[in-house]
Amino acid sequence: MIVRRLIFEDAEQSFRVMIADEAAKHMFRLCNANRSQETGGILTGSYSSDYSTAEVVEATGPPADSEFGRDWFHRGTDGLEELLIAKWNEAPRTHYLGEWHFHTANVPWPSAQDKKQMREVARDARYKCAQPLLVIVCPVGAGQWVVKCYVFPGGTAPQPLRMVEDPDFDEPEPGEGAA
Ligand SMILES: [Zn+2]
Repeated sequence: MIVRRLIFEDAEQSFRVMIADEAAKHMFRLCNANRSQETGGILTGSYSSDYSTAEVVEATGPPADSEFGRDWFHRGTDGLEELLIAKWNEAPRTHYLGEWHFHTANVPWPSAQDKKQMREVARDARYKCAQPLLVIVCPVGAGQWVVKCYVFPGGTAPQPLRMVEDPDFDEPEPGEGAA
């Protein structure tokens, strides 16, 4: 599976989110494993020093106590605290950035339940995240996905970010790497 790094930015081009190729692939694998129920997990990574860029390094699977349905997902918390402590102590240091969800139908926007979850996360001191991200993955065909990214400043009023081209991605030249 070829996935380039995914990049999103706001309308003012003042904030961007970069999702590492491995994190995107992991989300797609988890979505593909069972297309008839929602799933999700947390996003971890770091911010640039001026907070203008969030870099998502990892997208986890659902904690063991998560609950799923065709059009709903309640992310559990089993093991999450330990995981976040371990990531904080690793080099490079990473931390909680937000959530990701698989929506089984092509409805790539936050549900009422999703908005409630993001509000709770932003207010929960354990996440230390006043501006959580929500990435939503939807199927559009075999092996094809729509990925949308929202930022929730203060946990409310989701702002959709738009996907932009990766300026550092070089299209392979025809014949290149074919040796
Ligand atoms: Zn959702």
